[in-house]
Amino acid sequence: MSSVLRLGVRVTGLVACLGAVAACSGDESSEGAGGSGGSGGAAPTGDLVGDVLRYDYGFDLATGQATSRLTVGVVTGGDCFVVPSDLEPASASFGGAPAVVTRDAPTGALRLCGAPVAGGAELVIDTAELVPEGTFLGLDVGFSRQPDLAGGTFSYLLSWVGGCDHFGPCDDAPGRLAAFGFDVTHAPGTTVLCPGVRTAESGATHCELDGVLAPTYSAFALAADPAWVAAPFTTGAGVAVSFYEAPGGELASSLSPADVAAFLGWITSVLGPFPYGSELRVAGGPTSWLGFEHPSNIVLYESLPSLTGPYADPTRHVLMHEIIHQWAGDRTTLASAADFVWKEATAEYLAYVYEDEHGPAGEADATRAYWDAASQQSAHYPRPTDDPLPAVEDFYGDVYGPGPMVLYQQLEALVGRPAVLAGIADFLAEPGARSVEELRAALEAASGADLGPYFAAWVFGSGAPVWPSFVIGTSEVGGDVTVTLTQAGPVVFPCAVEVDVSGLAQTATAVVDFGTAPSSPSASVTVTLGEPLVTSTVDPRHRVIGAGSAFAKAAPIPVWRH
Ligand SMILES: [Zn+2]
Repeated sequence: MSSVLRLGVRVTGLVACLGAVAACSGDESSEGAGGSGGSGGAAPTGDLVGDVLRYDYGFDLATGQATSRLTVGVVTGGDCFVVPSDLEPASASFGGAPAVVTRDAPTGALRLCGAPVAGGAELVIDTAELVPEGTFLGLDVGFSRQPDLAGGTFSYLLSWVGGCDHFGPCDDAPGRLAAFGFDVTHAPGTTVLCPGVRTAESGATHCELDGVLAPTYSAFALAADPAWVAAPFTTGAGVAVSFYEAPGGELASSLSPADVAAFLGWITSVLGPFPYGSELRVAGGPTSWLGFEHPSNIVLYESLPSLTGPYADPTRHVLMHEIIHQWAGDRTTLASAADFVWKEATAEYLAYVYEDEHGPAGEADATRAYWDAASQQSAHYPRPTDDPLPAVEDFYGDVYGPGPMVLYQQLEALVGRPAVLAGIADFLAEPGARSVEELRAALEAASGADLGPYFAAWVFGSGAPVWPSFVIGTSEVGGDVTVTLTQAGPVVFPCAVEVDVSGLAQTATAVVDFGTAPSSPSASVTVTLGEPLVTSTVDPRHRVIGAGSAFAKAAPIPVWRH
């Protein structure tokens, strides 16, 4: 409510004319009609409909002075363009002439107006603004300077979902993909990383991201540090990996070049060639997240190597996670904030598969156990359907455990890992914006299974998730043990649950399979143990959320976000 009042004041108080006075007629009588679309020969008026095709962003790292150029592909003509911006432009032009700038009453977005532009044309909007230092949401989102581990200054301009308008006019919808150009001026000796193909010289760095597009939440970003030392690390699948760390940083030294190269070989065999050129830069910084997936730049928390948990090898896991995001989150992005889960689940799961198939014994088991434990404290369903949807910052932390469990890991027991991997590869095969519903369709196509009941039970929902609970029963005939699991709640969850049955000498694993469309709350299976049953353990390897009792009363654990 307070923001509505604030915006109402701004609209009446700010009918700013920026630039040459001669262009400022102040005549907005044609606004609000929605635009004529350029039909009938009349000049189109009102808010045009179009997408920002490209952002060219100039930034002075020392002063925060920025210039924004938006190239808009106009679909339906008009003489105004509405775009979010937290900042008030000091100057603005619309199609090369000074713009009339106001605020849109319902949204608070900038409305920039000028000469009419027809549908099918490209419109260039230029603004200049000052980006203040400051962060949002208690995260690194915003523009910040922080001391790195060597006492240098790590500068970070970070958008995240819905956040690129902190830095000027920017369409912050997560499903938008655009090209980007960055021109950063900075002190000689400072290393600046920006997404795409990077060209650096003393005092100036340019980056160009074109061809394969990227979303604003990851690509509208800069990171810089005068203390960084650039070091080539390895080359894998045609991608040259280099590290940027302050002296004393241990990210690169804690990783194996051969292993990272092998991972690049594996992930490109699953998802295709690296989307963003032939260079991958990995930088360390004092970040609040463990990592972030800027296209062709990955920023990692500089103290990852000294973490104990939540993964067996946090540096390796998080690096793999962020590399996977280059396909899952960057080249292919979220249809909406509500679909946040799939990009994190995909990055987590594929890192896990590599751990399981190529890592040391126990590595993948530790990842699964962490996911299961984190799932116990989720306050939202993986794909929340709450109306209104909670703010992304309020629910995104709940996806890191249950996301990979319900979207992928639990499905392995029902449809097999090859079908899960094929579904992911198909889902990510083309650039664009994707929803959880589209992921379900891709997994169904790859597996041949109807996953409607599964997704209804595990994935979609409002409020706090209710995971299944199981009552176990056993009976013995000779050396055979029959294990029966009964789900207690109103929803019968599609799943297959492992139960270890043990005698004094032997252990056998029973897989109690409810199938993808359970018709009964109970399911049974008989296994041969060959001796009297002493103990039985439900879901000892954490393959189904809620199945084992080990975490039911566990203390909350920190959930790591990346
Ligand atoms: Zn992530």
